[in-house]
Amino acid sequence: MGMSYLEGTCPKCGEKTREQSNTWCYGSPIRFCPRCKQEYLDRRWREVAIDGFDPKSTSPGFYLKAFLLLVVVAAISGGWLYYTTHVKNYYSTLVVTVVIISVIGAVACLGLSIWIALGFAAKTNSHYLEESKRRLRNADYVRKLQAYGYVIPSEYLVGIGNSSGEIRES
Ligand SMILES: [Zn+2]
Repeated sequence: MGMSYLEGTCPKCGEKTREQSNTWCYGSPIRFCPRCKQEYLDRRWREVAIDGFDPKSTSPGFYLKAFLLLVVVAAISGGWLYYTTHVKNYYSTLVVTVVIISVIGAVACLGLSIWIALGFAAKTNSHYLEESKRRLRNADYVRKLQAYGYVIPSEYLVGIGNSSGEIRES
């Protein structure tokens, strides 16, 4: 659970990109274009050892509220659909679409909320944090992030071998 796709455009060659990501885009913000093979920065990805977790992934409340809102939307649009088909003998495809989307959205939000409440999100979060820490143990990678303007926590600057002046630069 929690898989989705992130769409974008390569800033180097303009290629449309579509990458699999988890719901909260945890991963390296340094991406590689499948067409021109060049790397570029995509800030939508969270390097969690630096950026921290998305608050939505650590508390079930956000998705529970979204679920309740979508239930209200589904009830109102469903009621309207029922009224028009049974009393007025017509229905609008727009209303049908709203009913379907709100029901699917409500189920997805409830699922995510439960998933977070049961601690599964915390489990995958710690997995993504480990991956992030592993990337930050690579000095070249850390310097690259600094060049992109990231402020690197001091624990990842130990042993990367540049002067403290260079470190403060970013
Ligand atoms: Zn490209």
